[in-house]
Amino acid sequence: MSLLLPQIRSVLFGVAVGDALGVPVEFVSRYALRRNPVTDMRGYGTHFLPAGTWSDDSSLTFCLAEALSRDFSLKTLADNFVRWARQNYWTPYGEVFDIGITTAEAIRELEKGTDPEQAGCAEESCNGNGSLMRILPLVFYIKNMPVAQRFDITRKVSSLTHAHIRSIMACFYYLEFAARLLDRTGPFLIYEQLKKEIPPFWKSLKLPRKEINLFCRLLDDDIYELPEEEMKSGGYVLDTLEASVWCLLTTASFKEAVLKAVNLGHDSDTTGAVTGGLAGLLYGFDNIPDEWLRQIARFNDIENLARRMAKKLTESS
Ligand SMILES: [Mg+2]
Repeated sequence: MSLLLPQIRSVLFGVAVGDALGVPVEFVSRYALRRNPVTDMRGYGTHFLPAGTWSDDSSLTFCLAEALSRDFSLKTLADNFVRWARQNYWTPYGEVFDIGITTAEAIRELEKGTDPEQAGCAEESCNGNGSLMRILPLVFYIKNMPVAQRFDITRKVSSLTHAHIRSIMACFYYLEFAARLLDRTGPFLIYEQLKKEIPPFWKSLKLPRKEINLFCRLLDDDIYELPEEEMKSGGYVLDTLEASVWCLLTTASFKEAVLKAVNLGHDSDTTGAVTGGLAGLLYGFDNIPDEWLRQIARFNDIENLARRMAKKLTESS
């Protein structure tokens, strides 16, 4: 068995489980969830879909994993995104039931044949969490590359849909966190390491100081000391990134981390998916509750995808 397989499984199922826990309560307020918190895999709710249904976050994550299970190229990834939006590729039950505005516009550009690096919106207003929610499998592809190359490939893969530097920086922070979890470094040590290493690197790239400063709650403060009222959980990329790191650092199991994320409310599926990916890596596949895994749509197809991706990445390493 490939040594990578358990970790690839943790990522794919961690994202899908966090996503599926959040789908029935997407758009529900934190206040409403406080009275009726998610404690288990629920069915129906917001989108009226059965328990275990994952959404666009997981679909696009699987599209990336598929591209990584062959000879990776942005073109293959772009084709997979178009197939998802138009032909229901990697949907849980053969239907796309949600798609972000920025992602939908980028997919229309990709369909027209626009260069993948130019397809995504680069406006400041296009900093939703739509690239962060689908980026995690990339960690396996870039983890052994020099940091400048890791940043460059992250930029390209985010830019397919989200090309503003803030979205790229958020994806980069998230993937750097994940890469260190792969090496079994503890999450608090990772959090401190990234505080030391990321700002000088971003300064060396001459990224705008204003953008670097926006990451201050991750890079200067101790985010785990902030109360829940300080954490937002809407669709803005920085809110999702902060919330996922906060959930990871303030809980002690996969189950606790993803339930905390989902119960923040609003963009529950994406906060759940982004947290679930990190929590999957930290606690491992074996600590994702079995009763949740059993309900996940297309479990066997996801397991097969994990195996194909592990095989490809093991061959090419
Ligand atoms: Mg979603």
